[in-house]
Amino acid sequence: MKVFKFGGASVKNAESIRNLVTILNLYAGDSIWIVVSAMGKMTNQLELLLEDYLQKRDFQDNYQNFKDYHIEILEDLFPFRSASVYSDFFTLLDLLKEKLSSSVSNDYYKEYSEIVSYGELVSTTIVSHYLDHEGIVNEWIDARKIIKSTSSNYCKVNVDWETSKKNVINLQNTFVSERDSCIFVTQGFVASNHTGETTTLGREGSDFTGAILAWCCDAESLIIWKDVPGMMNADPKKFQNTKLLAKISYKEALELSFYGASVIHPKTIKPLQNKGIPLYVRSFMAPETEGTIIQKEDKYDENIPSYISKSNQVLISISPRDFSMVVEKNISEIYGVFAELGISINLMQNSALNFSLCFDENENQLKALLSALSDKYKLLYNNNLELLTVRHYQDEMLQNLLRDRTVILEQKSRATARFLLRNRVN
Ligand code: ASP
Ligand code: MG
Repeated sequence: MKVFKFGGASVKNAESIRNLVTILNLYAGDSIWIVVSAMGKMTNQLELLLEDYLQKRDFQDNYQNFKDYHIEILEDLFPFRSASVYSDFFTLLDLLKEKLSSSVSNDYYKEYSEIVSYGELVSTTIVSHYLDHEGIVNEWIDARKIIKSTSSNYCKVNVDWETSKKNVINLQNTFVSERDSCIFVTQGFVASNHTGETTTLGREGSDFTGAILAWCCDAESLIIWKDVPGMMNADPKKFQNTKLLAKISYKEALELSFYGASVIHPKTIKPLQNKGIPLYVRSFMAPETEGTIIQKEDKYDENIPSYISKSNQVLISISPRDFSMVVEKNISEIYGVFAELGISINLMQNSALNFSLCFDENENQLKALLSALSDKYKLLYNNNLELLTVRHYQDEMLQNLLRDRTVILEQKSRATARFLLRNRVN
């Protein structure tokens, strides 16, 4: 088996869905799991609908936008309204409307997952029917029937790997006996808990679905089809003269995604590394090009330096009010509050009286953090900062990058240099 993942940008309109078929035709005869995200920005649209629902507001406008976006694609792909895809599509829309009209529970994550998962349910329905239409035999699979989570916390789920694996293998076996090769189309991002309720894997979680499936079926590879030529050494929107990282190790890919390279979801790497399954990141516009291969060898990692810039950073400096030193006990208490509030720490530094932490700015989280710690600690913060990370740096490179910049905090290890910078004044 191979696993392919198509993100929102690669299924954002009728033309891109036709392109998906062109890609599949390059792999005729192969058995493939196709993992599809919600089309274009439809997850954001569903998050608006979720807000309408939770606030008990009229949802009609946002619902109509969601519907119209897909109808436009459907009418382009299937000119005949009699095509069965329309009845499947309208059934899903009716179910969504029914949900939006029902009473609201007080479990945010349950409501989130139930509503937001419609993006993937609809996109896979359209893609699967279009493959039928193009003569590509395929099975539409409800991801909730195979990908299982162990906790009842609906969004931050832990995958039940063994049960999911059993489900995937059983399902494959039912079809493999009937056919030489199989194509399965399923939703990224969507899973279910043991009582069968819908859960989701967190924003951008479809890459992770791809990796879970690859792990479950011991796939020969996972290919993530993207709107970039592969994994680049910097974001072309922020840096000039970017280069393709043709071959890197799992470790390097995980480090880069941790530092903020957004090409792949950080959770994607572990399951693949554990089974030695290679991950390719390829351009869906130029499917014949190699793109990036991510695998276990690390001898190529240092060939090209990588630059990652994360904006909207906050640096908070925390010091005990009674002039006591910052020791392990405070640090563990402070970390506990961060974990509780779900704030990921991007960088930290400590001194005798100060513990400084850098994280992504989020107004609600920042407020909650200040109120949780301010009794015991004096808190000072700076926001609107940029966190710049350079992997495999050389000193002169850093001098150029930092010219005219105000560095607030810096950290260097042998392979990585990190700088927290004040934003440029325009
Ligand atoms: N549709 C979800 C999102 O936009 C999952 C994904 O695209 O990976 O976050
Ligand atoms: Mg997406």
